[in-house]
Amino acid sequence: MRILISGAGTAGLCAGINLTRAGHQVEIVERAGHLRVNGSPIDVRGAAIETAREMGILDAVHQHRITMTEQTTFVDSSGTAVAPLVVQEINDSPEDIEIPREDLMNILRDALPDQVDLRFRDSIATLTDDGNRVTATFDSGREAGYDIVVGADGVHSRVRALVFGPEEQFTEHLGVYVAIGDAPAQASPEHRTTEILNLPGRMAGMAYYRDKALGMFEFRSEPIEYDYHDLDAQKRILTEAFAGIEDWKVPQLLKNAQDDPDLYFDVIAQIHMPVWHRGRVVLIGDAAHCATPMAGRGASLALLGAWALTKELDRHSANPEAAFSAYEQRQRPYARAAQEFARGGADLVVPATWEDIEARNTRLRAMQQR
Ligand SMILES: Cc1cc2nc3c(=O)[nH]c(=O)nc-3n(C[C@H](O)[C@H](O)[C@H](O)COP(=O)(O)OP(=O)(O)OC[C@H]3O[C@@H](n4cnc5c(N)ncnc54)[C@H](O)[C@@H]3O)c2cc1C
Repeated sequence: MRILISGAGTAGLCAGINLTRAGHQVEIVERAGHLRVNGSPIDVRGAAIETAREMGILDAVHQHRITMTEQTTFVDSSGTAVAPLVVQEINDSPEDIEIPREDLMNILRDALPDQVDLRFRDSIATLTDDGNRVTATFDSGREAGYDIVVGADGVHSRVRALVFGPEEQFTEHLGVYVAIGDAPAQASPEHRTTEILNLPGRMAGMAYYRDKALGMFEFRSEPIEYDYHDLDAQKRILTEAFAGIEDWKVPQLLKNAQDDPDLYFDVIAQIHMPVWHRGRVVLIGDAAHCATPMAGRGASLALLGAWALTKELDRHSANPEAAFSAYEQRQRPYARAAQEFARGGADLVVPATWEDIEARNTRLRAMQQR
């Protein structure tokens, strides 16, 4: 089949690898001008470890393993440690593999077969499904026909908007925004412990791995109207959220964020859809079932979904809709569990009040002593 994938994130690259190896002709369109590899380290866990093995990338994933989260501590305004982040709070098992997001993306890019047509700086503009074929037009003005279209274009998926309707109807806002950026001035080989400062409804953190330092922010907020593609607007919102805060390293971290041309900023919102496919179009990854970074399972879900989709298309080669239904049946339990897990994330990482911060710290200190 001739297959168009929208988005070259984890889900899009995994689908590109698997579907090409299964004998399909694959094109990927990515809105950005390059692979977006930034962000904080992510986890490959649970059943996704077996999928990574079947994809032949598990050794490479292991080789890039880091253990950042095992050394994370909450600090007060002067930088003094007040509570550890107990790793059992977020990990499923010691088998979980933490890996820099850029390393996983590079491993996937290296595994992408040469024959995949990967096109940057383009995006689907319209989709017309006549039951046998989907015709796509692109922002670039191009037009082409495909047997199947896979939406792997993330939480603000354009494929979802075009085929299923406006994002708002599928979005559950968890009341928090996140920003992650490079903090080059802060990188130092001696520093290994990730530090997180909480103020009511706000967190600012520094994470270190290898020779890198990252600045991380989360803040509670009602939904904010802004253009998802407008980085200046995102930086403005971040700065306003932390305006006047002089505690710890916050001013320096904010400056680093302002200077980062690839700052990652997004709403922490889940996507809930009653069905992930329509006609010859199917959604995978965050586009279908974003669980949010608070789940720590986005990459694992992307690996699992792209794998299940490929296997089911193999099994139901004459009937894409049957394949999509079977994929959905396999993937739903993983997505549901991850979305459920994420619900406690805000209370752990960005408590709303001083009382909540103190209660969280007391609980974590008690867990450490056990
Ligand atoms: C830059 C970045 C940083 C991230 N950092 C973290 C992090 O620190 N922690 C965490 O837990 N999760 C992070 N995530 C989310 C995480 O990558 C996903 O939850 C998970 O990997 C599932 O991936 P996905 O491919 O479904 O979605 P995504 O990783 O969001 O990938 C979607 C891709 O589609 C592209 N795209 C979007 N719109 C269009 C369009 N209209 N046309 C074509 N392409 C389009 C995007 O540029 C992106 O490359 C980040 C995502 C991005 C994009």
